[in-house]
Amino acid sequence: MAKRDYYEMLGVAKDASADDIKKAYRKLAMKYHPDRNADNKDAEAKFKELNEAYEVLKDEQKRAAYDRFGHAAFDQAAGFGGRGNAGTSHEFNFGRRSGFSVFEEVLNEFMGGPRQTEERGGAAAGHRGSDRRFDLKISLEEAFQGTQKKVKLHGRVKCETCEGAGAEKGSKPVTCPTCKGRGAVRMQQGFFTIERTCTTCHGQGQTIQNPCKKCSGSGTIAGERILNVSIPAGIEDGSRIRIAEEGEAGYRGAAPGDLYVFVEVEPHNFFDRDGATLYCRAPISMVIAALGGNLEVPTIEGGKARVVIPEGTQSGKQFRLKGKGMSILRRSTRGDMIIQVQVETPVNLTKKQRELLEQFDLNSKSHAHSPESEKFIEKVKRFLEGLKH
Ligand SMILES: [Zn+2]
Ligand SMILES: [Zn+2]
Repeated sequence: MAKRDYYEMLGVAKDASADDIKKAYRKLAMKYHPDRNADNKDAEAKFKELNEAYEVLKDEQKRAAYDRFGHAAFDQAAGFGGRGNAGTSHEFNFGRRSGFSVFEEVLNEFMGGPRQTEERGGAAAGHRGSDRRFDLKISLEEAFQGTQKKVKLHGRVKCETCEGAGAEKGSKPVTCPTCKGRGAVRMQQGFFTIERTCTTCHGQGQTIQNPCKKCSGSGTIAGERILNVSIPAGIEDGSRIRIAEEGEAGYRGAAPGDLYVFVEVEPHNFFDRDGATLYCRAPISMVIAALGGNLEVPTIEGGKARVVIPEGTQSGKQFRLKGKGMSILRRSTRGDMIIQVQVETPVNLTKKQRELLEQFDLNSKSHAHSPESEKFIEKVKRFLEGLKH
């Protein structure tokens, strides 16, 4: 089958600059990226082609070889000595992921991000199970005390029939005959020895002759799992808990992915939280505010605490209760609780009450009883005097 011309694939001229080639590649790779073309086989093939073309044309020496010999330059049978920047294994790894790493490299460069020069993970790491995210809502009380939550996870779970191995009962995976169990094969190309993932066993080092019927040999099936997750006391809203190896099952017994539990602490109808400090507002009567008294407030652990209100307390005054706030992660101490009082103006007065208040007012000849008013009047005076000058 005749291969398409690499320049044609990227839609650039034979004498295009390296920059133009990169730009053309980036544009097309974005268009055909599998993330944007789910289940589109044509786009997938196109994306692979683009990566292959770009792998060659971005490299001056490879491009020169291609210009001279065409596709034959990379035909292994033709014995062309691939140059290969020693160490960048992905140059020769046309496995499932290689296309992505080239693409990300270019994308990162455009975004000003770090260059990804290393192939991500080895062959076996490619078969590790996927990481999972689970969003969990808890109450403030639960965040205070710490809690255990049952979490239901959907995704790939280990196939119980073959215990994740992928082999039918009675048969065992055998050492891969191609790579002798190494998972990789070495090839001589000119002066260079190149190692690449074994295509027979996909890097597993073992092959299966009788695949498990339940899981078609993958060792995983779609399913659900229930997991107990421990939430430590003092956890903050927006925290992320990583639970190693509790993500999805890996291919044929490879390591599972990780589970990330994102914790949202729901707002409370009485307490506001700021780190370890709990805030609440409490109304007090005009009389308690003037004469002093006691105020009982609920605490986060479900008890009650007493606040002593001194006589002459103004609205908005804050009282601190030491050690009555939130628990602190991995510590035995607690934060404080801060209570802000609001003096309540009495409403629906009886005739008698009204008379008493009027009498009270008649007795209040000076502002000595009203420090706030005194301060206010003083400020107004100074403001008006300031205007005259
Ligand atoms: Zn199975
Ligand atoms: Zn193999």
